[in-house]
Amino acid sequence: MTQSPNRDTIVAIATAPGRGGVGVVRVSGTKLSDLASVLVGKSLKPRHAHFADFRAADGELIDQGIALFFPGPHSFTGEDVLELQGHGGPVVMQMLLRRCLEVGARLAEPGEFTRRAFLNDKLDLAQAESVADLIDAGSEAAARSALRSLAGAFSTEIHTLVEQLINLRMLVEATLDFPEEDIDFLEAADARGKLAAIHAQLERVARTAKQGSLLREGMHVVLIGQPNVGKSSLMNALAGEEVAIVTDIAGTTRDTVRELIQLDGVPMHIIDTAGLRETTDTVEKIGIERTWAAVEKADLALLLIDSREGITEHDLSILARLPDSLPRVHVFNKVDLTGESVGHAEEDGHAVLRLSAKAGLGLDELKHTLLKMVGWGGSDAGVFLARERHLDAIRKATQHLITAALIWQQVELFAEELRLAQNDLATITGEFSADDLLGEIFSRFCIGK
Ligand code: GDP
Repeated sequence: MTQSPNRDTIVAIATAPGRGGVGVVRVSGTKLSDLASVLVGKSLKPRHAHFADFRAADGELIDQGIALFFPGPHSFTGEDVLELQGHGGPVVMQMLLRRCLEVGARLAEPGEFTRRAFLNDKLDLAQAESVADLIDAGSEAAARSALRSLAGAFSTEIHTLVEQLINLRMLVEATLDFPEEDIDFLEAADARGKLAAIHAQLERVARTAKQGSLLREGMHVVLIGQPNVGKSSLMNALAGEEVAIVTDIAGTTRDTVRELIQLDGVPMHIIDTAGLRETTDTVEKIGIERTWAAVEKADLALLLIDSREGITEHDLSILARLPDSLPRVHVFNKVDLTGESVGHAEEDGHAVLRLSAKAGLGLDELKHTLLKMVGWGGSDAGVFLARERHLDAIRKATQHLITAALIWQQVELFAEELRLAQNDLATITGEFSADDLLGEIFSRFCIGK
């Protein structure tokens, strides 16, 4: 590990703020049995539920509840952990917390319990991140996938790859000691075949991780088009409720409106944008600027077109301004007025849909197209939740493997590329991580986790 665990005793309210049937105060540190007996007035048997009085320094009763003591290393953090389960009211919880502070604990930082679990080798970094992702999961599919990562599915894949890389590196580095026979030796040992197999396996992991990342981050879909083509109506139809103001006065949507919906468990952030048109109105101008800012960050753009008018010069100028790499769908809306049939087609290399936002026609085709375009495989079975950080590490490792395959005859460079690929993969599970990365990851956790 990169640093030794902090020895302070830490405490936090582990349950969500507000009122609840039960609230939990959790303490972690070394040698907590003395502190536990001070807090609850008796010595605690490991891993037993004790009904206990929680008392203030002057003996006054704060609450009655359950005390649990998990001596390290058999605990979540790997240290001694004490859990006090009291009545879940904010005042009671604060009093209990204050009592723990009085007897020597300090307030835990965000994610500090999980950070300690990581530093004490109870979890690797990918698993620690999945604790936060499980808590933050926005859909059942995301929760199931986060749990798979927490149980180690992702880490196991990475460990297997790292092991295969280590084996290959040993082979390559052994030949460095015998330069006269290096290439022949590598050929005979099928070093290239082994490298190709690792590369193929890494690509499979990358595909699953990409699905997991979609479940976590969702996709950002931006609705663009001229005023009055039906952007707000489409957003409402997708969201199933009124989230944007719909009127027939052009320029009603002056700001970007965001809505989060779930398609097949995949979170979709839909951004309805100010109608793109030339304007002198200052507020509307700001809205239009924000639209272009949203376009820059989107994964996909839906260009809405009024079926009665078809693509206009104005639409063409909007299309011309979209980043080349941004996938787009041309959505011809208001087919209820033209009598055209709804449906999906492929024209000039991009998807074309005909639908009616107002009449609710063709919405299923739209949802299906969106999921397909962002690469959703159709099910979360076997998917483990992954973060952009993981995808980035996998991309870098892949790049090193590609370079390695090209320069394998230069054995020293070959060995170096393999080493770099291994380091990139090791950042996922945290065997090779800088402290500032750890700080960034754990500071985004909630306090008490
Ligand atoms: P935006 O300015 O692009 O956001 O457009 P709105 O969603 O505010 O819609 C402008 C007008 O077109 C409203 O009167 C809507 O009721 C109407 N509208 C939107 N979609 C449809 C549709 O599919 N069919 C019909 N007939 N009218 C629609």
